[in-house]
Amino acid sequence: MNTISHCPICNSEKQSTFLKSIDYNYTKEEFTIVECGDCSFRFTSPIPTEDKIGEYYKADNYISHTSSKKGMFEKLYHRVRKHTIKKKFKLVQKHANDQSLLDIGCGTGDFLGYVKEQGWKTKGLEPSEDARKMAIERNKVEVESTAELPNQTTDSVGAISMWHVLEHVYNLNADFADFKRILKPDGTFFIAVPNCASHDASHYKEEWAAYDLPIHLYHFRPQDIEKLADKFEMKVVDILPMKFDSYYVSMLSEKYKAKKEKLSLGLMIKGFWRGFISNMKADKRSYSSQIYVLKHK
Ligand SMILES: [Zn+2]
Repeated sequence: MNTISHCPICNSEKQSTFLKSIDYNYTKEEFTIVECGDCSFRFTSPIPTEDKIGEYYKADNYISHTSSKKGMFEKLYHRVRKHTIKKKFKLVQKHANDQSLLDIGCGTGDFLGYVKEQGWKTKGLEPSEDARKMAIERNKVEVESTAELPNQTTDSVGAISMWHVLEHVYNLNADFADFKRILKPDGTFFIAVPNCASHDASHYKEEWAAYDLPIHLYHFRPQDIEKLADKFEMKVVDILPMKFDSYYVSMLSEKYKAKKEKLSLGLMIKGFWRGFISNMKADKRSYSSQIYVLKHK
């Protein structure tokens, strides 16, 4: 285990326990989220060492890397995913100044494949070898290992996207410096992350599925992304909601709360209702998951 003694955003050594929860997906081990005493950023500490953290991604129900269409929940998930791919592309297209995209943590490359079909120049970076193989086979996209991040050319892409990836990045500051370096001076950086300042997060507390311990290392709120951007001389120019995520996260949270291995119809309905309430209560800075659009200062 690796104790994070300094806040990844402000470097302060002051911290207190925010909450304790478990790895619901896989090991059921207990983990702690601490809160910085200076900037109030919340991060997981201690975390598994970098060579061991891959073990925590091997859960059977980690569906974002698979293409199984078995259950009702998975079916719904895949349908929503198709829709969100198109929506994400429209957003990227709206902000980007040229048609080149680097998708970091591209998984099996479904988003990247869609963007490539639209005539864009694309590349993905992905840590999982299995996902890289699937991305190349299924979506015919160019994908490299995330270990190649420092070798990407400076000022080389018009857009970088990270869809639910930044919260997994082990070396946040070193990697963020690389993202900024690779992005063209007029480029746009798209970051989607869960928001622990949302209604569903407050409602489910330690059973909130988007804490996803220990693989989510950071638990961002809008002010944390703004501080992080500022630290790297970037600025947040827009914040957008991901309205489907509140339903997905709330349904999973209901499963954890009920201590069930499978999601029943009753739990799905409960989660759906909570997701609906969360969206109704949300303003621009308090949706369950949000997309931050960043530019260089
Ligand atoms: Zn801090």
